[in-house]
Amino acid sequence: MSIPFGNPLLQVSPFASDGGAVIGRDPRDIQSDDWRGNPFLIGLKAIRAKCLDCAFDAKEVRKCVQTDCPLWPLRMGTVPKGFNQARQEAEFSEVTEERLTIAARMGAEKNAPSTDQNVAEMSK
Ligand code: SF4
Repeated sequence: MSIPFGNPLLQVSPFASDGGAVIGRDPRDIQSDDWRGNPFLIGLKAIRAKCLDCAFDAKEVRKCVQTDCPLWPLRMGTVPKGFNQARQEAEFSEVTEERLTIAARMGAEKNAPSTDQNVAEMSK
């Protein structure tokens, strides 16, 4: 594989629709040797770095008004107090709602006339 611009994280696209353009490699296929020398961050540090990149400085990250951005709650580089509890409660209520929907659907199916009954009723 050729390495465009000497950057092992890039490749010439194997997809005909890209017309030979340079694209980022799939990170799931990159071996450890190719990661070396790159200052990659993970988790909260990566989020904080992205926010500093987006908003230019720490004061502006603090004041960010884009509350619909998926990174917004974690933009200070820490998990806010009460965040995990609220998230767990939201997930619990989603699961409960999903189970109630499934139970209601199963109840409706159980009480619905069978296909044979439907055919018999339609032929009356
Ligand atoms: S929360 Fe989103 S919009 Fe706000 S600074 Fe971070 S990346 Fe940018």
